[in-house]
Amino acid sequence: MLVFYETTTACELNCIHCRANASLDKDENELTTQEAKNLILEISNIEGVTPLLVFTGGNPMLRQDLFELMEYSKHNHTNFSLSPAVTDLLTKDALFKIKEAGTSSISVSLDGSTPNLHNGIRRYDSFARTIEVIREAISMGLRIQVNTTVMQQNVRDLPNILSLLVDLKVPVWEVFFLIRTGRGTSAEEISAVEAEDVNVWLSGISPEIITVRTVESPMINRTRIQRLGAVKRPNSNLSTFLEEMTDKTFASSGFDVQTPTPRIETLFISSAGNVFPSGFLPLTLGNIRDKSLYRIYGESPVLEKIRKTKDNLRGKCSYCDFRYICGGSRARAFANLGDYLAPDPMCTYNPAPLNQ
Ligand code: SF4
Repeated sequence: MLVFYETTTACELNCIHCRANASLDKDENELTTQEAKNLILEISNIEGVTPLLVFTGGNPMLRQDLFELMEYSKHNHTNFSLSPAVTDLLTKDALFKIKEAGTSSISVSLDGSTPNLHNGIRRYDSFARTIEVIREAISMGLRIQVNTTVMQQNVRDLPNILSLLVDLKVPVWEVFFLIRTGRGTSAEEISAVEAEDVNVWLSGISPEIITVRTVESPMINRTRIQRLGAVKRPNSNLSTFLEEMTDKTFASSGFDVQTPTPRIETLFISSAGNVFPSGFLPLTLGNIRDKSLYRIYGESPVLEKIRKTKDNLRGKCSYCDFRYICGGSRARAFANLGDYLAPDPMCTYNPAPLNQ
């Protein structure tokens, strides 16, 4: 189980796709140090699951008590990772302190392979330091993953980003498919056909070169299976482009296709204590100031429906032969159609209707 705690919405960056609508000013209503510690304790005590707590933001480095909270997590045997923004606060010394605090890994964002593209999307001059942070983290043995949000602006840069990450020896690349929420409502998402091209292309990257994960694109589990079955699809401009731009040695042999990624349950706790199924699905389940996280987690009807996704989905996702390993993005269904159980509008697959 992944539990994201948005330590603060304050951030120096102004990314065009920011889910949190982050700005320089912090939310005056954010959890106090003691409330944050109570939350950490609750997370560590959720029965029957082994949670990974992700300190995210905004920029968690702006939280004065961040290292105190990490120490507290370590003291309570809570496995945690950190998702800092790359700013002047993320110095080499800070990276070392983060490692010493016991974090299992950090994730940093890279949205383009060039300063122009990356800095343009993040509206902050962070490209050069991001590359340095990756190098420094790897050299000090701090586990790192790189996150990229795919949108119209950078979809054709993906092969260059991949090459850069392979050169840097980054072990894990997490590719987020834009959800139009927060500031992301004015960013340009890729079309369903383009998303299929990207998923097929990502499915073909050898796990021996880099581990690829996707966020809000569970359809990759379908494309991996279809690839194994050698399902042919017409070549589009984008798929041809992605393939031609990619170093042939990065390709999977076809026999080392990764198994489907299991659906991992997530919870997201906002800086003010509101609990959501994920950071991209703004359906409030409750607030930890009013009710314990444990009760919210156990009693929420929305979570119950999401857990039993296969029985509750609507439209083609409800009868799709891949629903057990995919189920579509509930966040995208909500963002684009206002119904979190609706079919994922970014999926091009047309399953045969039942009873035919
Ligand atoms: S129809 Fe729904 S469940 Fe099937 S592959 Fe598409 S998104 Fe996934």
